[in-house]
Amino acid sequence: MKYQELYEVTKQKLESAGVEDAGLDARLLLEYVCGTKRGDLFAHGDREVANSDSERLIQLAERRMKRVPLQHLTGTQGFMGLLFTVDENVLIPRQDTEILVEEAMKQLHDGMRILDLCTGSGCILVSLLHYSNGCTGVGTDLSGAALKVAAENAARLLTDAGAARFLECDLFDGVDGKFDIIVSNPPYIPTGEIPSLMPEVRDHEPRMALDGREDGLYFYRKIIPQATGFLERGGMLFLEIGMGQACAVRSLMEGAGFLEVEVVRDYAGLDRVVYGTYCG
Ligand code: GLN
Repeated sequence: MKYQELYEVTKQKLESAGVEDAGLDARLLLEYVCGTKRGDLFAHGDREVANSDSERLIQLAERRMKRVPLQHLTGTQGFMGLLFTVDENVLIPRQDTEILVEEAMKQLHDGMRILDLCTGSGCILVSLLHYSNGCTGVGTDLSGAALKVAAENAARLLTDAGAARFLECDLFDGVDGKFDIIVSNPPYIPTGEIPSLMPEVRDHEPRMALDGREDGLYFYRKIIPQATGFLERGGMLFLEIGMGQACAVRSLMEGAGFLEVEVVRDYAGLDRVVYGTYCG
């Protein structure tokens, strides 16, 4: 079959299975299988695709129709201009989380120490280290399987892979010393909302990376009061938050003694990041 035809057929299949952005996913799967680029669909749409490639595409499209995330099929997700390895053990890095990285980056200086709680794929810590000089960081997660992915990303994306250390532990348990910046995108979805998430997320992403317990705020209540004991004087805490959580997280931070607490919106205009400074 020709490249363009294969694209159309795949797009229709995905559409019929209720996949959002069916056209985009069809094109990306085709590019993944054939090793082609975006422009090939328009420039070389009439080229014949090898049988082995079309068979592989059909297999992947069938899995995508079962709402397996595209990123689990290709094994990667772009984040902060870097390509991260992902699998079913980590949350797929979200574009919204780039806001958290960008805000932290504005405050990051050479040689700072960073702590990333619930590091998952390591996308936050690895991006901060990739775009800075002489900084070091620790990433913690309860999931050893997630940390393997994080370590692989650090090894591939950092010139000095040793700048990132990963610890399998519950939040701060097992963490030593003080940090200039603490970042976290903890699980923040209220348990009751999980059944109504998209099947890609609900059925394929790790539940432990999503579930923020009853009101979604469980991890903020644990992280915020403890963070003060792990920050240098003048150190900063940056947290990603979900819908409607800004007020509660801001008061938790103010209650724990953080100063100049700010809320930053994402590109959809939703409150997405809360940060503040701890002066001891
Ligand atoms: N910190 C990781 C990310 O932002 C994982 C977050 C999580 O598991 N909740 O992608």
